[in-house]
Formats: sequence, structure tokens, C-alpha cells
Amino acid sequence: MLLPVWLVYVLVIGLGLAVGSYLNMALWRLRPDASAGLGRRSVCVHCGRPLAWYENIPLVSFGALRGRCRTCQGRIPWQYPLVELITAALFGLAAWHQLDWFSRFLSIGGLSGIAFWWWALQLWRDFFFIPLLFFIFVYDLQYQIILSGLVWAGAVAALVFNLILGSPSLSLTAYRLLLGTIIGGGFFLFQYLVSKGRWIGGGDVRLGVMMGALLGWPQIIVALFASYLLGSLTVLPLLALKKKHLRSEIPFGTFLVIGTLIALWWGSDLIYWYRGVVGF
Ligand SMILES: [Zn+2]
Repeated sequence: MLLPVWLVYVLVIGLGLAVGSYLNMALWRLRPDASAGLGRRSVCVHCGRPLAWYENIPLVSFGALRGRCRTCQGRIPWQYPLVELITAALFGLAAWHQLDWFSRFLSIGGLSGIAFWWWALQLWRDFFFIPLLFFIFVYDLQYQIILSGLVWAGAVAALVFNLILGSPSLSLTAYRLLLGTIIGGGFFLFQYLVSKGRWIGGGDVRLGVMMGALLGWPQIIVALFASYLLGSLTVLPLLALKKKHLRSEIPFGTFLVIGTLIALWWGSDLIYWYRGVVGF
């Protein structure tokens, strides 16, 4: 390695905190009742005063200000440090996962030239999709809306990343991505059409397409399976406790995001393990 491993983690987690801070701003600016777009300076969510740079340092500022605005004393929502922490943790997890791959390469005689860049691009793909997916996760949880522009941009970016990554066997990669996209989109489109949009929304159909473009076949199956498993494990107890009834809006995109991350990092391992279990 060029850098000691601990320094890699410090840099990656620092990057994750900064990206998490940006995500908070994007979540605030793009909320359904806001007309403001991205690009303006961060403001207090209560009094609208622009924040100074030292009020905008991830985690540190929240702690130093004890969770309150300096002028209006309004509470800074807990969501802010939480989103920063989780983004940083996911970045750390991506690095850990990719370093694990890196060491597998080292054990078979090293990683040089084109292989290194291939590996680095995979890490950057993760760094691109973690904020995108986490944004969809929080936004769907808060507003039960999946922003379609974001999902289509994600689908195109996923295809570009994956076609470059899979360029040594381009036709196989294209086939896997096409099949993944058809299954991901088709699975939700079928339910959307059968239920006339009552079970799931159009946002879930588009997200299914993006998941397919990101994961490809057969990892898309892992994502769908994990999402439904997590979804039912969460929703069934709530139904039993009568906290929710079947007609209430369930932010399904939230579960799809978790399933996608599981499939992105452990999909191949899970498929390998499953094949061993069923002996095929
Ligand atoms: Zn304020």
C-alpha cells in the first residue's frame, strides 16, 4: 500500500462526514415544500440565518453548539449529526470491503497497473452510490417520495461505471446489466400494474430499474430478497402491535436501499454460499 491502512480510514471517514454534511443540506433544500434549489449557502432551519463556516463542521459544530442555533436557540434536528455519522460509517464499510478485495489480490501475486485502477474505480463507484442511495433512504422515510430525476441519473451512472468495470468481458457485462434491469424494473412494474398503483408507487418501479443497472444479474435477486425479508421483519411486528395498518404508507424505497447495499457488497458471497447449501 502507498498509505498506512489507518490513514486510509481516517481520510475515508473524513470524506464520509463531509459528504454527509452535504447530504443534510441537499435533503433540506430538496424537501417537497421548498422552492430553493442547490447552491445557496447553508442556513439555520428555524430562523434562516446563513451559517458561518465554523457552524458547519460535521459533528463538531453540533457538539460545540450543544444542538442549538446561536441566534434563535432553535434545536438543530438530530437528523443532522445522525446522517453525517451514518454516511461516514458507510464510507468506512465500503473501504473495508474494498480493502478486503485488495488483500485477496495481493495474496495472488499483487495488484498492478490496470488492475489497481479497476479496483480504485470500484471504490469510487461505492463513494458515488452511498450518498445517492442514502439520500433516497432518508427522503422516502420522511416524505414517502422517491425523486425520479435522481433515480434516472443514478441508473445512467450505474451503467457507465459498470460497463467500464466490466469492459474486459463487455458482452457478458451488458447481458448481466440488461437482465438485471429487466428483472428489477419488471418485478415492480408487474405489481404496480396488477394493483393499479396501490401496493407500490411509480418511484419503486424506477428504483427497481436503477437497482438492476447497479447490481446486474444475479445480484439483483439478492437485493430484492433482502429488501422483502427486512421489510416484512419490520412491518409485521408493527402490524401486530397495530402501530400501522396495511393501508398506511410504507416507505418501501427505504428497504430497497438497504437491500441494494447488501447485494452490492455481499451479493456474490451470498450467492456462492447459497449454491453451496443447495448443492448447485
Ligand atoms: Zn436559528
